[in-house]
Amino acid sequence: MTLEASLHDLIRQNGVISIGQYMARCNAHYYSTRDPFGTAGDFITAPEISQIFGELIGAWLADCWQSLGGPHATLCELGGGRGTLLADALRATRNVPAFHEQLDIHLVETSPTLRQTQHDKLHTLHPSLHWQDELEPLPPRPLLLIANEFFDALPIEQMATVDGMETEQGITLNDGKLQWRYQADVAREVSPASLDVIRHISNHIHHYGGAALIIDYGYTGGAQGDTLQAMRKHCYTHPLEAAGESDLTAHVNFDALLDAAQNVHGWGVVEQGVFLKRLGAELRTQALCKHASEPQQASLLSGLERLVSPAQMGSLFKCIALTSFANKPAGF
Ligand code: SAH
Repeated sequence: MTLEASLHDLIRQNGVISIGQYMARCNAHYYSTRDPFGTAGDFITAPEISQIFGELIGAWLADCWQSLGGPHATLCELGGGRGTLLADALRATRNVPAFHEQLDIHLVETSPTLRQTQHDKLHTLHPSLHWQDELEPLPPRPLLLIANEFFDALPIEQMATVDGMETEQGITLNDGKLQWRYQADVAREVSPASLDVIRHISNHIHHYGGAALIIDYGYTGGAQGDTLQAMRKHCYTHPLEAAGESDLTAHVNFDALLDAAQNVHGWGVVEQGVFLKRLGAELRTQALCKHASEPQQASLLSGLERLVSPAQMGSLFKCIALTSFANKPAGF
C-alpha cells in the first residue's frame, strides 16, 4: 500500500488525523526512500555548502570537551544526513588525538539509506560508531551533542482560530483528497516532539555533564503563525500534496526550546552568521584559499557568503547551546 493510501485509510477510520501524525508518517517515508540533499535532490544544508561549517563545529565540540575536563564522552549527532558535518568535524580535530580517543559516536538516524551513507563516510574516521532510532538510551556519560536541521523535521501541531476559539488543526478527506479540517488562520504552532527531545538532552546533561549545540532555521519573540512548508527539487509545494515525496518542515521556535531546557545553562539565541564569524569562519576560509585553485577559492568564498550573509542563511538560521558548565561556550 502506498503512503497516500494508508493515510486515507487512517483518516477513514478516525475521521481526522493530526498534523503531527501526518508529518511523522510523511517524513519517515521521505527520508528512508532517498538521499534528499544537493542540487540533484530537494534541498541543500550548511555542511553540504562548505566544509568550514563542520570544521568550526568540530572545534566548538573539542573546546566544550576541554571545558568538561576531557572526559570519556558520547558524541551524538541528531539527524546526521550524509555524515558530512561529522566527517569535517572529525578531520578538523585530528590534531587533538585525546579527544578522538575519548569519544564514542552515536548517530540518531531513522533512515536506513542515510545510515548507510553515514557509515560509508565515517567508518575510516572513527572506530566507535553506533546508530540508534531515538535519542534514548545513551550511555551514562558526559554528552556532546550536535543537531543541524533536525528539529525543523520533527512533527508540529498548528492551533487555528475557529469561531474565536483556539482549536487544533487537523487533516481530513474531501473527494478522495487530503485537506485541512478547518479553513482558518493558524494562530501558533507547537512541537511537543521537539520539547521532549530538549527535555531528554537537558536531563542527560544535568546528570552526567555535557554540551549541546542546536542549529536550525526559526524564530524568537513569540508565535509566528503558519510556517509549515514542503520543499521538492528546491521549490515550495503544498504540504498536503504528494504525501511523503517532499521535505516537510516547520520553523523552529527557539524560545520554546530554551524554555523547555531545565537545570542546564542555556545560551543564545545567536544568528548563524554571527556564531560562525565568532568561531573564525573568515580566517578559516582565507587559510583554505591559500592552498586552493581559483575555482576552489571561488566556491569557498561563495560558500562562506551563503552561510553567514544575513540575506542568505546568516540570519534565518540560528543557534542555541545547552551546557552543564557555567562558562560561556565559544560563539555565544
Ligand atoms: N544534519 C544534516 C541533515 C539534515 S536533514 C545536515 O545538516 O545536512 C534531517 C535529518 O534528520 C536526516 O538525516 C533525517 O533522516 C533525520 N531525521 C528526520 N526525522 C527524524 C527522526 N524523527 N528521528 C531521527 N532522525 C530523523
